[in-house]
Amino acid sequence: MSDRVYNFSAGPSMLPLEVLQRAGSEITNYQGSGMSVMEMSHRSKVFMKIFEDTQERFRTLFRVPDNYRILFLQGGASSQFSMVPLNLIGKTGRADYAVTGNFANVAYKEAKKYGEISVAASSADQNHTYIPAQDQLVLDPAASYFYYCANNTIYGTEWQYVPDTGDVPLVCDMSSDILSRPVDVSKYGIIFAGAQKNMAPAGLTVVVIREDLAGAELPYTPLMMNYKTMIDKDSMYNTPPCWCIYVLGLVLEWLEVQGGVSGMEAVKHGKAQMLYDVLDGSRLFTCAAQKGSRSDMNVTFRSATEALDAKFVAEAAAAGFTNLKGHRNVGGMRASIYNAMPTEGVERLCEFIRAFDKKN
Ligand code: PMP
Repeated sequence: MSDRVYNFSAGPSMLPLEVLQRAGSEITNYQGSGMSVMEMSHRSKVFMKIFEDTQERFRTLFRVPDNYRILFLQGGASSQFSMVPLNLIGKTGRADYAVTGNFANVAYKEAKKYGEISVAASSADQNHTYIPAQDQLVLDPAASYFYYCANNTIYGTEWQYVPDTGDVPLVCDMSSDILSRPVDVSKYGIIFAGAQKNMAPAGLTVVVIREDLAGAELPYTPLMMNYKTMIDKDSMYNTPPCWCIYVLGLVLEWLEVQGGVSGMEAVKHGKAQMLYDVLDGSRLFTCAAQKGSRSDMNVTFRSATEALDAKFVAEAAAAGFTNLKGHRNVGGMRASIYNAMPTEGVERLCEFIRAFDKKN
């Protein structure tokens, strides 16, 4: 690591060092092509191979069944907040949303433009410090889909179960925990994620969609926001985010070496547990998220005063642990420990927390 910091940013966030080094080594001449991946036509043979290999690797690692399509889109996860209702709400004009944090709430408000949207559950009563249980979900059997956000990046909570909604398709924003654990994709209608936390640089949005759900979009759906357009052209209706797709391929190769998503699940859970144990055992710090709802990706915590929080963040940054300041909605601190954060980075942070706890 030497000249690199331990970067606890919520996103864009750390990429594996091996991936950065490989991308660096190929940056002016990709495998004898004489050019960078950034410079080549998206329809060239050499790029098409990168594209198809990346798609195939993703399908294998994430265990995507054959009746699902994998799309490489742009517009960020936020574009999906519009794309999902535009394409799916037409079925019954109704949908259910679980509002468990900031991004779920933004998605909910956006969906209201297009249909009758019910709040199936909300954790706003306790500042989104928990995930509602299955028996707290108020389900509309006539909903076109049920929407939730698997990991609430800002609040540091994560769904520990897959909601059971009967025949109503699940739509899930997995932006901040995709590829950190195995997922039974067949339980979902759509899974989407912005790439900039666990997958690649910002600019790529991965969408996994059950193919039969496409093609029922509202009549005024813009061409670029129609899943069918992108399925029919295999994400190449226009120029895809080529560089990000290439880096995703490298990240997926790295993930294979780590034992795939199952291997990653053990590692990421161990990292998070180590951090929660140190915080729970400290005098100064308390965790924001309630036990049973805590995220393995974003660990939110605080001390008794804002001044002490600020001191912690400043001293941590000086010691090489950056971006630990919490989001303004929660305050305190947030350590984002996505797949690429090495265990060693969390161990060092734990040592730093213990020492700070003793000194202050
Ligand atoms: N959903 C979640 C869970 C997020 O964490 C974020 C961004 N941090 C978004 C959606 C928005 O993503 P984007 O910036 O790619 O639109």
